[in-house]
Amino acid sequence: MTNADTQQIVMIGLDSADVDYVQAHLHALPRLRQLADQGSFCRLSSPGSAMSAAVWPTFYTGRDPGEHGFYFPMQFHAESMRLRRVTDDWLPCKTFWNRLSAQGIPVTTFDVQTHFPSGGSNSVEISNWGAQSYSKPLTNRPDLLEAIHQRFGKHPMRHDVPQTKTDSQRMAIKDATSAGVGVKKDIALWLMQETDWRLFITVFTECHRAGHYLWPTNSDASTTNEDLLDIYRTLDSAIGDIVDRIDLQKTTVIIFSLHGMGPNSTQMHFMPQIMDRINVAFDKPSGDRVTFEQKPSRRHLMRFLRESLPPSLQNKIAEYAPESVRDWVVSRQFGGGLNWSQTPGFALPTGGEGFIRLNVKGRERNGILEVGSERYLRYKDWVTRSFLSLRDRRTGEPVVEDIYDVPVCYPGERVDRLPDLIVTWRDIPPATTLVSDVLGTMNAEFQAGRTGLHRPDGFAVICGNVPESATNCPLSDIKDFSTFIESALTGARERVLV
Ligand SMILES: [Zn+2]
Repeated sequence: MTNADTQQIVMIGLDSADVDYVQAHLHALPRLRQLADQGSFCRLSSPGSAMSAAVWPTFYTGRDPGEHGFYFPMQFHAESMRLRRVTDDWLPCKTFWNRLSAQGIPVTTFDVQTHFPSGGSNSVEISNWGAQSYSKPLTNRPDLLEAIHQRFGKHPMRHDVPQTKTDSQRMAIKDATSAGVGVKKDIALWLMQETDWRLFITVFTECHRAGHYLWPTNSDASTTNEDLLDIYRTLDSAIGDIVDRIDLQKTTVIIFSLHGMGPNSTQMHFMPQIMDRINVAFDKPSGDRVTFEQKPSRRHLMRFLRESLPPSLQNKIAEYAPESVRDWVVSRQFGGGLNWSQTPGFALPTGGEGFIRLNVKGRERNGILEVGSERYLRYKDWVTRSFLSLRDRRTGEPVVEDIYDVPVCYPGERVDRLPDLIVTWRDIPPATTLVSDVLGTMNAEFQAGRTGLHRPDGFAVICGNVPESATNCPLSDIKDFSTFIESALTGARERVLV
């Protein structure tokens, strides 16, 4: 047993490592299996069923998405009616380790996803050295980041280009993610030596990228794919190397994942077209014949190009364009050509879910829908009815699993930063033709190249010395980590609010 002043915690994050896949392949992951046997293994819920990218802010704030408001790297900025990359001056989020470092507990974090270092005097925070969604490293210790670049170079995984991949591009992703695990482990070990910490968090992002592009099609979690399993094996060995350097008598070790991965079942490629049709048909007197455009018009120039240029060319352009240019393209693709005075709702960028923003009067600069009005309620009802009418022409099956009314499901002071409605999809492959008795027939190709899509459940393996103060804290959801960690390091039995 240790006392609260010497207790240490090491958290090793495996971004998007899938709980069912890990459990089905523990026989091939000896270090993880050994740690789970020595300690405990728990499955964790998350808000990932509706907003997969919201899991990291939910983890580090210990709060629901309606409270922190950060659900995707690019979000709608109502004041300018444009997409904007999320920054910490727009949506500042306090982390649980901000509270710990303010109490004098030293903290080191490395590559926590979608995290902006806030820089207390007791913390070393480095983000985006090798990230899934952001390409510019951030830190409150530029000297250490510089030293990392000098000693270890840059992460071999380049930024993500969600476009159709060839086999050789998939193998290049495998090689880069595998090499990245090795270098990241070396940096983590170096930071453990070089910095003063009682809480150390390092996150491997590689099985996030690998999961999206190497997930075997037409499979469940028990299907073995050697390329994907190789990445998990490399991670398993890296976990072992890190744990071997830790004194388990005075340290709690937590291996964790905030959400998972499974076969891709998105219908996101239909979203702009569906919303166009929903808007065209809304307000038309019933019985009027509605004619829908079959292709995006050239008015939507970026969308037209994205849907018309060959994937190989788009891959090349995106690979070499800086983040600001890629953001501009996404922004133009999404909003270019929309006439706000005739747009009650629109689709937002997504990694898979269907995100819908309503054009609300008083919130959006050019808002036209009054919350609670007859027209607002009728529009929401029309959107819901339209989505529920969608069927895959191949099988006749409905494609929509659920529609979340976000202010009801995720209330909070920043709910206005989130989509208003979120559509989730049934577990069937991406369709090429959807039919609907109200929206007609729509064709679209899924071109993001991703064979894997997120699943909501995460997990934690907890071993080493776990103080009694923490064992009293239930860990069943990803937002419970903050209370668990704060209790373990401060000896407090309840959440420490500073
Ligand atoms: Zn992802």
